[in-house]
Amino acid sequence: MKGVNQTRSSASQHVVIVGGGFGGLHLARSLSKTPVRVTLVDRRNFHLFQPLLYQVATGGLSPANIATPLRGILRGQKNVSVVLEEVTGFDVAGSRVLLNDGHIDFDTLVVAAGARHSYFGHDEWETLAPGLKTIEDATEIRRRILMAFEAAEVEENSDKRAAWLTFVIVGGGPTGVELAGSLAELAGHTLKREFRNINPADARIIIVDAVDRVLHVYPEDLSKVTAESLNSLGVTIRTGSIVTDIQPDSVFLKTASGTEKVATRTVLWAAGVQASPLAAALAEQTGGATDRAGRLPIQPDMSLPGHPDIFVLGDMASYAHHDGKPLPGVAPVAIQQGRYVARLITNRLCGRSTPSFRYQNPGMMATIGRSSAVAVLGRHHFRGFIAWLIWLFVHLLQLVQFQNRLLVLVQWAWGYLTWNRSARLITGSAQALSNPASAENFGHSPDLEINQK
Ligand SMILES: Cc1cc2nc3c(=O)[nH]c(=O)nc-3n(C[C@H](O)[C@H](O)[C@H](O)COP(=O)(O)OP(=O)(O)OC[C@H]3O[C@@H](n4cnc5c(N)ncnc54)[C@H](O)[C@@H]3O)c2cc1C
Repeated sequence: MKGVNQTRSSASQHVVIVGGGFGGLHLARSLSKTPVRVTLVDRRNFHLFQPLLYQVATGGLSPANIATPLRGILRGQKNVSVVLEEVTGFDVAGSRVLLNDGHIDFDTLVVAAGARHSYFGHDEWETLAPGLKTIEDATEIRRRILMAFEAAEVEENSDKRAAWLTFVIVGGGPTGVELAGSLAELAGHTLKREFRNINPADARIIIVDAVDRVLHVYPEDLSKVTAESLNSLGVTIRTGSIVTDIQPDSVFLKTASGTEKVATRTVLWAAGVQASPLAAALAEQTGGATDRAGRLPIQPDMSLPGHPDIFVLGDMASYAHHDGKPLPGVAPVAIQQGRYVARLITNRLCGRSTPSFRYQNPGMMATIGRSSAVAVLGRHHFRGFIAWLIWLFVHLLQLVQFQNRLLVLVQWAWGYLTWNRSARLITGSAQALSNPASAENFGHSPDLEINQK
């Protein structure tokens, strides 16, 4: 087994961070002035801005607009080494992180490997209803959506054509709402006049959710506004409906009035999430247990019980010390936790204690269309254009590099004026093109380089 030991700094304490997402990256950056050696391990060479994945999935932005190479971000930070490797497990007794090919020794370990979607025990649905978490997911969804219009254009049977033009989104949370709004604009405006045999605006976009309203964690008035805005874009909302089966050509729903079959060739998954399997691996090694969402319950200082030098952050962690309810899986939680652990590591080196982590809630927001959104900031609720401006400002600011901020702003301004979506490329193998929902091709698109359109 190869030992990875890349950092050349003379500082003795070695902090190993697993994951260069929101939590891991902000932790690494916050340790820039702390005399420690830092190794950041990620299986991807880039930091991904997941909140804008839906834009890639609907052709509004290119993958490179929302992903930034980790080495580039950390170029100027001499105490950090980046290792491109898959972490497969941990040897806690030996203070080692286990890699696909080798291991890394640590003094302090911070695990921030995020989460994946959960199919509630129906993993077989994954190939039929891709979720949105990675660049590959987004380009796969983009391929399926665009191919559905292409297939409808050449389909002569009206029932089959209608199925190609029916898009079912499972989950009415922020991701489902954002996908549906963006897809409705693509069908109703961007693709207008581009086809000869179909009218893309005839597309049916259906959001299905088991609960009684979309954005159910938002205040009721904003859920209502969101539903109205989606309806005005032509999106149908089916709340109180549970998906019981997904087939290549249909979705089965259980509703108050019975079972219903919806003929569709495109199902997108925007429902539950499950922590990275590394949480279970760490639980096994530390004698702990994960919660129902696969997350690790952590101490008020983000460490694992009985392991003061092992920390877990972000979507993998269940932090319930403020009001008994676990903090939500959102970027500000991961970012603040990353910065907190950096402060704690720095304080420990100076022999200082650190008060428990306290989350400062900056609010929440979701966009519904190109100039409509909802936002909750403190006790204030915003809707419509003003909420969209807030959303735009916050998201641009959060993008890691100035270059990406500028690119995204220019693309959006252009898209806003013209309704155009310039990243509408269908990529994939010939087989994938003839079979949009092909299981063989899911997750293996060659469209992985972050510098492609
Ligand atoms: C579609 C979508 C939209 C979202 N929209 C919003 C939003 O609008 N606002 C908001 O606040 N939050 C949003 N979120 C949630 C937010 O992105 C997450 O809460 C946040 O990314 C969690 O940060 P993290 O550091 O825990 O994990 P992540 O940011 O997911 O980072 C995990 C990192 O670990 C790496 N990794 C995973 N496993 C391994 C392994 N075995 N070996 C090596 N590396 C590994 C990954 O490559 C990744 O870089 C959204 C999420 C999604 C999926």
